[in-house]
Amino acid sequence: MKSEQDNQPQQQGNTLTVEAALSQAHDRCERVDQRMLLAFVMARPIAWLLAHPEAVLNEQENQLYSDLLGRRQNGEPIAYLIGEKEFHGLSFEVTSDVLIPRPETELLVDRLLEAFPDGVPARVADLGTGSGVIAVTLASRRPLLSIVAVDRDEAALAVAKRNAERMGVINRIEFRVGQWFSNLKGEQFDAVVSNPPYIAALDKHLSEGDLRFEPKGALVGGPDGLLDLAAIIDLTPSHLPLGGLLVLEHGYDQAGVVRRLMEMAGFVNIQSSMDIAGIERVTAGHYRVDRTESPGYARQT
Ligand code: GLN
Repeated sequence: MKSEQDNQPQQQGNTLTVEAALSQAHDRCERVDQRMLLAFVMARPIAWLLAHPEAVLNEQENQLYSDLLGRRQNGEPIAYLIGEKEFHGLSFEVTSDVLIPRPETELLVDRLLEAFPDGVPARVADLGTGSGVIAVTLASRRPLLSIVAVDRDEAALAVAKRNAERMGVINRIEFRVGQWFSNLKGEQFDAVVSNPPYIAALDKHLSEGDLRFEPKGALVGGPDGLLDLAAIIDLTPSHLPLGGLLVLEHGYDQAGVVRRLMEMAGFVNIQSSMDIAGIERVTAGHYRVDRTESPGYARQT
């Protein structure tokens, strides 16, 4: 019969070295994951691990490492296991209450940063903020922006608040519980930004990889994935001045529909941008008045 010990990295006596921990667990998950988990467990950078193969794990570290390897092997995302993910060069807390920030969402932030260069004050609404990466990154890169971050999920908002505190921008972000503009009645913004749920309910990707562990409510946008995008596009005009900006992230095959929906809602100068994979992932437009030539709004190419 197999003992519990067989499932753990082997050790001689009480000592398990970094080198042994990394090589013995190699069959259990990818090398890069092992290194990240061990760095987390030992509270050291990966570079330190590589420079100290002889360092010894204590019993607690050994146990935690073994547990985390097992969970990784069951498919749990690394970001949830270590509770962190990098976004736009900043390190954010993540929990299973929020989506794991994706590199393509950096494009959404970049569009806003282009539109509001340093020194231009503006009020921005981030709808469905989740971990708060969009709101917090905008606030930390642009000291004159004031931001309202909305999420219907209080647990997600708590994560976003902690991230704002962590990055020292809590004073420039207001957090509101609500569904899109439900708690922003009568309020006006210079720009509205959102990475809403946009995956179709029966999309097979939902049962693959990291998505299996992420909150469905943050991923699924109705039967065709367009429910929330369409709602936001319809609701936004009454919260924008003429020339105000709407920037949306959407699915790989939704750019054309999103452009049409924005056109029908009165947006002009509608442009989609490609992510690093060459997929149109973000679409932006100005409400009724093309502001690309006006001061305060960067020319979009
Ligand atoms: N970009 C995510 C994915 O395709 C989905 C995020 C979202 O629905 N907003 O996995």
